[in-house]
Amino acid sequence: MRSWSISAGRLFGVEVRLHLTFLILPMFIYWTDYAANKGSVSGSRDLALVAIVLLAVAAHELGHMLAARRYGMTPKAVILLPLTGVALYDEPRTEKAAGVRWQREVRLARVGPLINFVFAAFAVGFIVASGRGIDLWSWPFLYAKNLPRSVVWANLYIALWNLVPAYPLDGGRILRALLCRAMDLSSATRRAVSISTAIAMVLILAGLFSDSWLTMVGVIIFSAAQLEERALVFQSVLENVRLDEVMLTDFATLSPADTLQDALDKAVHSLQDDFPVVRGSDMVGVISRQRILEALRSEGNGYVQAVMNKIFDVSMRNDSLGSAFRKLTARSSSIIPVVEDQHLVGIVTLQNLMHSMSLLAESRKLRRDEMDS
Ligand SMILES: [Zn+2]
Repeated sequence: MRSWSISAGRLFGVEVRLHLTFLILPMFIYWTDYAANKGSVSGSRDLALVAIVLLAVAAHELGHMLAARRYGMTPKAVILLPLTGVALYDEPRTEKAAGVRWQREVRLARVGPLINFVFAAFAVGFIVASGRGIDLWSWPFLYAKNLPRSVVWANLYIALWNLVPAYPLDGGRILRALLCRAMDLSSATRRAVSISTAIAMVLILAGLFSDSWLTMVGVIIFSAAQLEERALVFQSVLENVRLDEVMLTDFATLSPADTLQDALDKAVHSLQDDFPVVRGSDMVGVISRQRILEALRSEGNGYVQAVMNKIFDVSMRNDSLGSAFRKLTARSSSIIPVVEDQHLVGIVTLQNLMHSMSLLAESRKLRRDEMDS
C-alpha cells in the first residue's frame, strides 16, 4: 500500500512510520522562520521545533494505542502526521454492537488530547518553577527561538486542533461515532471524510490569505483523511471478498515423485513462486521455488517428496480474503491451496493476494466514485 511514509522504527511492537507531511514540516518551519526574521534563522533550532512537534504527536498516538490495546486492538503500523496519526490494522476488526462501538470510540478519541493537555500543564509547571521568566503569551506561540514555550503550545495546538470535527482527528472520530448510531460504519466514515475534506479545503484557502499555518493544517487533515479512507476500503476488501474472486485457477503443480531438478525446470517456466504438490487428485504438500533452490544447493538433487512442506492450511472457495491472510501469516507460509470436495480448485499466494488486493481496492474506489457522481 502506497502511503507516502517512511519507517521510523518500532514502538511496543507497532511499526511507526513518518508521513510525507512530517518531512516537509522542517522546510515549512524554516521558510516561515526565514520570512519572519528576514533571513536570520537557526537550522538546529528549527529542527528542535520539529522534534518537539514529533514527540507531542507520538505521545498523543501512544495514548490512543495503549487505550486501544485495552480493547484488544493492536495496529500493525501507525503513520504519524504533524497533528495526528493513522493506525493501520492487519485484519478486520470484529465489530461489536453499534452502542458499544460508539462509546468505545469516544473513549479512545479523548485520550489523545487529554495527554497533550497534561503535557502542556507539566511544561508550564516546569517553566514557572524554573523562574527564568520565559514569556508564554507572546506571538508566535510556536517559535524556534523560544523552545520551552513551543513545548507548551505544540501540545496545546495538537490537543485543540484534534477536537475539530475533521475526521480522522479525534473530534472527527467522535462525530463519526455519533453518525454510526444512524448508519453503518462505512457510510458514516464516508460522510465524516466528506465533512473533513470540506473543512480542510476551507483551511487551505483561508491560509492562503492569512496565516500559512492554516494551509499546512488543511493539507495534513486532507492527507490523513485520505489515508484513513483507503485503510477502510482495504479492510472492507479483506472482509467482503471471497477467495473465489481472487484465487489463481491457472497454475502449475508438482508431483512428489518429481526430482528437484525437474521441479526447478518447471519453476523456471512459471511465474509462480509457490507450488502445490499433488499426487493423483490429492493435495499432499506445498513447496516454494526458494526451498527447491536451497535443497538443491545444500543436499544436491533429491525428490520433492523429501523437502516439501507437508503441514499446510487449506481454504474453501467462500472463505474471506482476511481469513486467508491470517492463515498465511500464522504459518508464515506463502501459499494456500483452495479445495472443494478435497479437490484442488485454485491456489492463493501471498504475492497474488497483495496484487489483487490493491487492484480490488482501486476498483471499489472507482465504482464508488462513479456512484457518488
Ligand atoms: Zn488523536
